[in-house]
Amino acid sequence: MSVNPTDALADLVAGRFPDAHGRFGPFGGRYVPETLIPTLERLSAGVREHLHAPSFQQEFAGELASWVGRPTALTFAARLSAEWGAEIWLKREDLAHTGAHKINNALGQALLARRLGARRIVAETGAGQHGVASAAACARLGLPCTVYMGSIDMERQAPNVGRMRLLGATVVPVTSGDRTLRAAIDEALRDWVSDPLGTYYLLGSAVGPHPYPYLVRELQAVIGREARSQFQQAAGRLPDAVMACVGGGSNAIGMFHAFVPDPDVEIIGVEAGGRGSALGGNAATLSFGRPGVLHGSYSMLLQNEDGQIQETHSVSAGLDYPGVGPEHALLARIGRVRYESAGDEEALESVRALCQYEGILPALESAHALAGAKRWARSHPGGTLVVCLSGRGDKDMPTLQQTLLAQTV
Ligand SMILES: *Cc1c(COP(=O)(O)O)cnc(C)c1O
Repeated sequence: MSVNPTDALADLVAGRFPDAHGRFGPFGGRYVPETLIPTLERLSAGVREHLHAPSFQQEFAGELASWVGRPTALTFAARLSAEWGAEIWLKREDLAHTGAHKINNALGQALLARRLGARRIVAETGAGQHGVASAAACARLGLPCTVYMGSIDMERQAPNVGRMRLLGATVVPVTSGDRTLRAAIDEALRDWVSDPLGTYYLLGSAVGPHPYPYLVRELQAVIGREARSQFQQAAGRLPDAVMACVGGGSNAIGMFHAFVPDPDVEIIGVEAGGRGSALGGNAATLSFGRPGVLHGSYSMLLQNEDGQIQETHSVSAGLDYPGVGPEHALLARIGRVRYESAGDEEALESVRALCQYEGILPALESAHALAGAKRWARSHPGGTLVVCLSGRGDKDMPTLQQTLLAQTV
């Protein structure tokens, strides 16, 4: 399906996407079993009624301020800027409660679930970060939380399993299918369908069937709104470019949304280039993928000639996903956002640089955005760039021990 970039951008800026069918141009929609349609319809109605109601927005803003710790800082990275040659500013989502941007979405959806009368929350998690954010938000609001997690992931991410349990969540091991995120999603959906009125499914990124990509974008858009006004306050103008890493795409769409209407601001998303462009060696969906349906939505995805989902690889678990949110697929198609990839080695080097020059240990996911920032700085000397530092890197210490630290001894 062809898209006229000028018309599509005008539709995006005017808020006409997602349209009545939940589509961002050709992307998005609802590709789910018939049994889920009424449930998603009910959720859409709930989103329409509550999300932008003043009382909801007031409650959300209050919790973001007093519990999450917003607004997060916008930090000028002076030494890194001197080293890389452009003015680099960091939007500090690593300072948000539980250590990443994911809490904005988890809290927002948990508040919505309570308004919709849900008695319990189900979620699924791969690397565990979304499970931790969901468990924390549910504890805060007094909602029981069940997190489905593949048994292989539970072994790989044992500390996060412990965190979720301490925060009161029930973690259910999934031993069917691939025993990782994909099987966990199937189990969470099965649970939701069996009690669609009493249960709320808390999805962790800007993916899935309508209305999730829209709902998650609206909840994460606080990142870009804050960054835009903080930068204007500090510099008296807008930055030349903004940048974020892209897994499912929630921190990126949250960062980008406020800047999409600004024609002079360049927007760049950085995917996980892994070991390189070979099949199965990366998770760079927009760079190497083709259109298709995954997890209820038509978007870009990594698949082989027969349409089988491809294995992916990234040093960062949070970017290791074969799909991407439908709004990113549209932004890429119309050229409003440029998507590139950064490999494992570049990301690890950027972890070292941010530690060394700024005293900040970034998440491996965020380090991909920093790797893109370094490249951008080299080609735009003296330019100004705001990078979304989506999370902190303490969770990545086991990987860093085996990589960066193993190299230095
Ligand atoms: C989960 C995660 C990501 C990737 O998810 P998006 O939905 O693409 O934002 C990026 N950074 C951190 C720190 C994460 O925990």
